[in-house]
Amino acid sequence: MRDRKKEIRLALPSKGRLADGALALLEAAGLAVHKSTPRRFQASIPSLPGITVLFQRAADIPVSLRDNAVDLGITGWDLVQERTGNDPRILSLLPKLGFGHCRLNLIAPEGWREVNRVEDLNHAPIPKRLRVATKFPNLTGAFLSRHHLNEAHLVPAEGTLEVAPALGCADIIADLVSAGTTLRENHLKLLENGCILESQASLVANRHALKTRPAALNAAQTLVELLVAYLRAVEQLSVFANVRAESTEKLAAQLAGKPAITGLQGPTVAPVLTRGEDKLFSMHIIVSKDKLTRAIAELREIGGSGIVATPVSYIFEEQPQACMNLAEALKE
Ligand code: AMP
Repeated sequence: MRDRKKEIRLALPSKGRLADGALALLEAAGLAVHKSTPRRFQASIPSLPGITVLFQRAADIPVSLRDNAVDLGITGWDLVQERTGNDPRILSLLPKLGFGHCRLNLIAPEGWREVNRVEDLNHAPIPKRLRVATKFPNLTGAFLSRHHLNEAHLVPAEGTLEVAPALGCADIIADLVSAGTTLRENHLKLLENGCILESQASLVANRHALKTRPAALNAAQTLVELLVAYLRAVEQLSVFANVRAESTEKLAAQLAGKPAITGLQGPTVAPVLTRGEDKLFSMHIIVSKDKLTRAIAELREIGGSGIVATPVSYIFEEQPQACMNLAEALKE
C-alpha cells in the first residue's frame, strides 16, 4: 500500500469542460502531466516529483479535498462554493486560474416581459409559489434568501436544466452560463441582477494536509509560485528596440509622457557598442499585450527601430502575494 503521508495527491477533472483546460494550464506553466502509468485515473508530473495526479469528476473534487482523500485539486470555483462553502478544512490557493469562466445566474422564461430583475419575481405570472430548478441548491437558496425570496421552492435537478420551465418542472432555473447561446435557443433570459456567483477554475487545498505535511506544503507553494508567475506573464510581451539618443538622461527625458513604454518598473536601457559615431541604446520593456500597438507607436515617436516582441514565460515577483496569503492562512 502507498504511504499516504508521503504521497502528495493532486486531483484534476477527468473529463468535461475543465479537463482539457487544467492539463493545458499545467503544461503551459512547465508542469506537464504524464499519463504514463497503467492506471487510467492516475498520472505524474515529472517536474514535480512526489506528486500523484488523480483524475476525478470536477464535482467530486471539493468533497475529496474536504475529506482529505486528496491534498490539492483544480476544479470550478462554483463547485467548491456549492459543495464545501465556507468549510474551514478547505483552503483556496488560487481562485482564478484563467479558464472555465462562467457565472451561476437566475434565468427566467423570455416570455415573462415584466420580469427582468430579481425583485420582479415577486410579481411573476405563476399561480403558486415560485419553483427554481438548480444543481446549486446551497448557493441559490442563500441568494434567494438575501433577496427576501425565502418562499421560493428549490427543485433539485440533474442534467439539462434549460428545458425545466418548458416541461413545467420549474418556473425558473439557476444555472451556469458562459456564452448564453443555449439560453436564447430555449427562449430563456438572464435576470439582470441575478448573478449568484462568478466562477472560473481554481486551485484548492486541504488545509490540514498543508499544515501538517511539509512536503504537501512545499508542493503547494511550488504550484502556486509557477502558476502565478505564468498567469502574470501570459498577458505580457517582452519588447526590445534600438533608440538613438545622446545619453541615457536624454533618453529618459524623451520617455516622459509615454506610459506604454515605461515597463513594469521602468525600461532597462543599455548602450549598443556601435562601430560608427551614432549613440545607440537598446531598450527592453515588458508590455501588456493590449498595449502593444500603443507601445510601438510611442517607441517610434522617440526614434525606435528594430522593434522585437516575444512572449514571456514567467514573471516572478519578489514575494508572490498568493504564497504570503497561503502562509498567513495556515496560521489560522
Ligand atoms: P463538467 O460537468 O465536468 O463539464 O464541468 C462543469 C464545470 O465546468 C462547472 O462546474 C463550471 O465550473 C465549468 N463551466 C464553465 N463554463 C460552463 C458552462 N457554460 N456550463 C457549465 N459549466 C461550465
